[in-house]
Amino acid sequence: MVADPRLAGTDQDKRRRHADVTPIRDGDVGRTGDMDAPRKLYVKSFGCQMNVYDSHRMADMLAKEGYVETSEAADADLVILNTCHIREKAAEKVYSELGRLRKSQQETGQKTVVAVAGCVAQAEGGEIMKRAPVVDLVVGPQSYHRLPELLAKVRGGERAIDTEFPLEDKFDHLPAPSLAATRKRGPAAFLTVQEGCDKFCTFCVVPYTRGAEVSRPVARILDEARRLADQGVRELTLIGQNVNAFHGAAPDGRTWSLPDLLYGLAEISGIGRLRYTTSHPRDMDDALIAAHRDLPQLMPYLHLPVQSGSDRVLHAMNRKHGRDLFFDIVDRMRAARPDMALSSDFIVGFPGETEAEFEETMDLIVRTGFASAFSFKYSPRPGTPAADHAAQVPESVKTERLHRLQAALEASKRAFDLSCVGRTFEVLLEKPGRQDGQLIGRSPYLQSVVVNDPPAGIGEFLTVTITAAGPNSLAGEPVSPRPKASARPLAALEA
Ligand code: SF4
Repeated sequence: MVADPRLAGTDQDKRRRHADVTPIRDGDVGRTGDMDAPRKLYVKSFGCQMNVYDSHRMADMLAKEGYVETSEAADADLVILNTCHIREKAAEKVYSELGRLRKSQQETGQKTVVAVAGCVAQAEGGEIMKRAPVVDLVVGPQSYHRLPELLAKVRGGERAIDTEFPLEDKFDHLPAPSLAATRKRGPAAFLTVQEGCDKFCTFCVVPYTRGAEVSRPVARILDEARRLADQGVRELTLIGQNVNAFHGAAPDGRTWSLPDLLYGLAEISGIGRLRYTTSHPRDMDDALIAAHRDLPQLMPYLHLPVQSGSDRVLHAMNRKHGRDLFFDIVDRMRAARPDMALSSDFIVGFPGETEAEFEETMDLIVRTGFASAFSFKYSPRPGTPAADHAAQVPESVKTERLHRLQAALEASKRAFDLSCVGRTFEVLLEKPGRQDGQLIGRSPYLQSVVVNDPPAGIGEFLTVTITAAGPNSLAGEPVSPRPKASARPLAALEA
């Protein structure tokens, strides 16, 4: 853990260690009181890939408790909202969802246990309980391995909160997914290798909700990857809030960096593709760039958030990098791997951002060229330094800048998609398409590629030539199936 004085006394004080339990209303436990009845679980993920991964792990753990997943909240005995706090809108969505759940419970008279997990849970634990009486349980991202015991408390008639940063490693307490669960999730999987952040960008809640940077031990990651490969996973995306700051203790006694880990994972039979996200420009070192040159499994695609093209704004954001470092990384990446494409994150209307500074961001977009990007209006998050900044940019200005920025990013994406027409590359077939005989694959650049009558199945690689680029997907013509003796197709595996 880092000691950061900015945390003291805030509502989001991540070092609060409370697992306080308050009484629930009489009769509220409903169907969950019957331990013998089949129990259904509905998990809804908001926000980033880390939440998707966490949601899967919660479902894996609750499967051991007898819960089966359902895709309908109305059908569930337990609803978990795995929340995101990165933007105000994301947090408000959770309260809207809770309002809907409450209304539905009032209409049907059916009590479902409602749990709020993730970063909103961590930041606003007690507040959620006050604001949303429908909630029975609040659990932070570092404590969700304790869900079974928290649910037992709910069944005993209590409302439970656990937003601790426990000393034990939650990953030690989480069961591996079943083969059936992995098959359902498809041949591309996320694997958390690192959590938390020590960077303290002035707009961001992550260091408060997810805690300090912690890397998982290398042996555990390799074990998890081998298991997933055995279950038919062909593409792994290593995830972490600061994934390229990874520094995991390895069985050889050394501390492995992210490139070391990528080389280790590339040796696992069946794993044909590797990706990682999200990276910080400060942690893009020579070894990682060289791995993109030397490791064929490592996809030529990098998500590298830059947030702004203005040095003054980047400094005010405490990003610890300027625009020149970003350009330098992009140049070195493209020198190492000429087919490298980039995606990024942008924030417009950071406090004090002038029109000229915004134009520097527009210039960075044009100069770099992005295959895709995420962009947002700055939204003040309580407890972060930028939220208290006097020079907040008016909403109308933020909206107008966001429209211009998104138009530039859309043009950049479209240009990239069109540049793919005529190119030949591999896709990993992931799911059926809308029409008979169609499968949807994923390109090295994460584009959806629609293939008609492919001579390969879900979970297999197929070389295609791109014949057209639509607004949301590419069309691919099969060239030849990839011979992969070690990679059994997902459909061929027995449950
Ligand atoms: S590096 Fe990323 S996760 Fe860390 S504080 Fe900055 S924006 Fe948040």
